[in-house]
Amino acid sequence: NAPKKRKPDWIRVKAPVSKGYAETRKLMRDLGLATVCEEAACPNIGECWTKKHATVMILGDTCTRACAFCNVKTGMPRAVDAKEPEHVATAAAEMGLEHIVITSVDRDDLPDGGADQFVKVIQQLRDKTPDTTIEILTPDFRNKHEAAIEKIVEARPDVFNHNLETVPRLYPTVRPGARYYASLRLLEQVKKLDPSIFTKSGVMVGLGEERLEVHQVMDDMRSADIDFLTMGQYLQPTPKHHEVKEYVTPKAFDAYASIARAKGFLLVAASPLTRSSYHAGDDFKKMQDA
Ligand code: SF4
Ligand code: SF4
Repeated sequence: NAPKKRKPDWIRVKAPVSKGYAETRKLMRDLGLATVCEEAACPNIGECWTKKHATVMILGDTCTRACAFCNVKTGMPRAVDAKEPEHVATAAAEMGLEHIVITSVDRDDLPDGGADQFVKVIQQLRDKTPDTTIEILTPDFRNKHEAAIEKIVEARPDVFNHNLETVPRLYPTVRPGARYYASLRLLEQVKKLDPSIFTKSGVMVGLGEERLEVHQVMDDMRSADIDFLTMGQYLQPTPKHHEVKEYVTPKAFDAYASIARAKGFLLVAASPLTRSSYHAGDDFKKMQDA
């Protein structure tokens, strides 16, 4: 047996114990909302929830896929909750959010892949919290993506995020059920339909990818006109998930970030604990103010 890799010091995070954390948790429970912060066992939950930043996961907490890196449970999801869009808007209003990130599980079982629920959430948010900027982090909508994307783009989120997650070579083991180029095309389609929507994507590193493969992914993203990039260290949620092949050093993240900026991304967040939604609102605001 290979020796277990110890988590390096730069990965250690504080336990979630603050008052803000408890309040965020209670609000989510009271409204019956799931969050990717909890379901994906995000290491930043202590920091984010203390500041009342949470990423709401719509369409339930059960996914129809089983990606090798992901902690969300797989199975047959429950029926879509008609009250969910209103509850999301209530959460945004009560937390006083300037920016909200909404994501979902994959719902390959639904005829529209769940696109309608994204639209309803955006409409409710525009109605109840018109000053909140909206970022959606969507699944790939598999074979229904063209119609799904058209519908969602019409609802005009501020940021359309969809993660490529890893380099194409690792898709069969890390992201089976998804296609690298289909994900890329999805984001390209968003930009073509409405160039005023910012597009965003992200990758995890430490899964066994080579540096040059990551640079190629950046080039592919730029050719698809993707505006923002996030990069973070993959962490294994349980021993059953894909193993961590490497802990990428903060210095190597800085090098990735410089290369990404040189390639023309408008916003780059790259550090061991960066996640798709980490500091998303702060970074977006800074970019708008610049
Ligand atoms: Fe939630 Fe994103 Fe913060 Fe993680 S980084 S705790 S998923 S808001
Ligand atoms: Fe997790 Fe998304 Fe994969 Fe479902 S599709 S298992 S939520 S990463």
